[in-house]
Amino acid sequence: MESVACILCGSNNNHAVLSEKGRFGLNVRNVICKKCGLVYQNPRPSAEALRLEYASSTYHARYKKVELPSTERAKTEYYYCKHYVDFLRRYCDLSRGGTVLDIGCSTGGVLRRMSELGWKTLGIEPSHNYAEFAKIVHGLEVIEGMVEDIQLPKNTFDVIVATQVLEHLRDPIRSLNLLRASLKDNGSLLLSVPNILNPEGSYRDLFHDVHLFMFSPDTLRLILFIAGFDVVDYKCQDGHINMIAKKGTYINNPIMDAFLPADNWKVVRRKLWWYSQFDWLLVPLQKLKKKVLSFSLRQFTKSIITKLPGGDSFLQAIRHLVLRRG
Ligand SMILES: [Zn+2]
Repeated sequence: MESVACILCGSNNNHAVLSEKGRFGLNVRNVICKKCGLVYQNPRPSAEALRLEYASSTYHARYKKVELPSTERAKTEYYYCKHYVDFLRRYCDLSRGGTVLDIGCSTGGVLRRMSELGWKTLGIEPSHNYAEFAKIVHGLEVIEGMVEDIQLPKNTFDVIVATQVLEHLRDPIRSLNLLRASLKDNGSLLLSVPNILNPEGSYRDLFHDVHLFMFSPDTLRLILFIAGFDVVDYKCQDGHINMIAKKGTYINNPIMDAFLPADNWKVVRRKLWWYSQFDWLLVPLQKLKKKVLSFSLRQFTKSIITKLPGGDSFLQAIRHLVLRRG
């Protein structure tokens, strides 16, 4: 384990401890910087320990609840990745084609969707099993390894996607600098990270042993700005922040107060305290909201018809009619 200073403002030992326990009851210590409000793991595992964990199946077994990639898992990811591509579409003309890089591509959900739109794709994936699955089952080009260890070509990609990645990286600013260099001047970066201000699930599952950072929209915006990106838009969804940024200019010593609310660390700490006290109420409310939002009248009608005698044949006849009409 190693002790670290705050990567956003450089403060050392100027923090408050938020939690000593993480998901699965693991000993994980998370602190909040009293100067900027960044939440980070301190002390944290060494680079070698993390590399071994990501490359192993244990990580996937514990984190994704499946040890090996499967067709079922790939289907779920492919389905879920639709909302990333839809968000990207608002700011990029995807119909024009281009080159996309997906960091931590897993089974290749985003890459498959972009490939169907005519895009040239490349993935980076630290897990051997997942990289092989994406290559063999989906025929994707995937480099096995951690993004910070890979020499990326300069000024090459129209879009770079990194979902559920930044919180795992040891030096997110350096990694973002590398991504910036390989992005074309008018290219777009799509990030998705867990949202510390609006988490999903119970408080005891909030801190994970391989999440080295936990961002709020403000701290994520600031880290992107320091790395030379301008944030175009973001939305908070399903306990995550999805953010789109374009290449901006580097500014030396940016005025951090312009990005952060006054006493940001107290604001974040207070919200987390409320969450820790009332997650028993908030979590069921989150689940109810999800159910209401995913309610589909079409599916509901379909489920009623299939329960009626001859309902299946009726639906098949309708489907046939629709298909014939083209
Ligand atoms: Zn700080």
